[in-house]
Amino acid sequence: MTLDVESLSHQYGTERALNDVSFGLESGELVALVGPSGCGKTTLVQAIAGHISPTSGRVRLRGEDVTDQPPEARRVGLVFQQSTLYPHMTVGENVAYGLTAGDIDPDEREAIVAEYLDLVDLADQREAYPGELSGGQGRRVELARALAPQPDVLLLDEPLSALDRSLRLGLREEIARIQRETGVTTLFVTHDQEEAMSLADRLVVMNEGSVAAVGQPRELYESPPTPFVASFLGRSTGLTATVVDSDPLRIVIGEHEIPIQDTLQTPPAGTTLRGHLRPQSLSIGSPREGEFGLSGTVRRVRDLGRRYDVTVRTETGTELLVEQHARPPAVDESVTVAVPKSALQLFDQTDDTVGR
Ligand code: ATP
Repeated sequence: MTLDVESLSHQYGTERALNDVSFGLESGELVALVGPSGCGKTTLVQAIAGHISPTSGRVRLRGEDVTDQPPEARRVGLVFQQSTLYPHMTVGENVAYGLTAGDIDPDEREAIVAEYLDLVDLADQREAYPGELSGGQGRRVELARALAPQPDVLLLDEPLSALDRSLRLGLREEIARIQRETGVTTLFVTHDQEEAMSLADRLVVMNEGSVAAVGQPRELYESPPTPFVASFLGRSTGLTATVVDSDPLRIVIGEHEIPIQDTLQTPPAGTTLRGHLRPQSLSIGSPREGEFGLSGTVRRVRDLGRRYDVTVRTETGTELLVEQHARPPAVDESVTVAVPKSALQLFDQTDDTVGR
């Protein structure tokens, strides 16, 4: 492992920001650290960079325990949400600044600055001052500065959050390219699940100071291990199910008895379970092979341009969100929601997966 985070906990006074966090980054991986605001992402980054001393736990870089080392002794590159470029220094001087700690001769330093400005496609802005750059160019200078000392790990803490959407999308691709070309092991922090899923080889999902899940984006999206992960990664809509038979597992939803194929647990008959569904796997209309139908009434229709979000209050008393591309039904209309059995994921009261 290039980076190992072992049982990190951190407390600000009585506020517990990190709770026994462990994960590792393999060499060359781009891992996204995602989670809602306040879940501890920045605290974790600061602990890895050495800007805070964790209350307990260890940080290892290339196998070496760096927990007690100061930030400057760690080979970590950092880019934050806000610019940290020196306004009185040129772009070239800013990038060179990251190299002053090493014992590098001036010619070599010049060559490294040129190489990294070239990498971020800003060779022609070398003599410019940060105030003369666009928001996106400024971000790229920060990347060059963080990468020039060839860190063991690059930490990007919400690097695109201050930019507008179109710039963010372009720079996202740019970061992916630069990461591929340099092969630098990268931890990319974001609260934007779409950004995380589109960029990362793996995700570390955090919630309330703890790791909620670690895995490949598609795997976590399709088989979320908890309801939190199901609703944080993409949209999720839920209903209640009751176990009628334990082994093999059969549940009842409304008037429908449904056998569960992939069973991880065999809760006793009568147990109430929570079912999660992706809104895009539901449709309005008669159920087809492999689906069951829940009748209900349309409560809301939101026109989002490319699609409609239709909320249906079903016979079971719960509301389901259905993504629809065709012309939607009207509010108060009676409809049937077709639910593919294979799309249903079941969780017990303690949020453990029961089956799907
Ligand atoms: P955001 O996405 O909003 O930046 P985050 O996931 O990075 O959030 P942190 O900033 O690490 O979360 O905060 C984790 C928790 O620790 C929050 O409850 C926050 O209020 C608290 N916290 C953060 N910094 C401090 C501090 N200096 N003193 C006291 N509490 C703090």
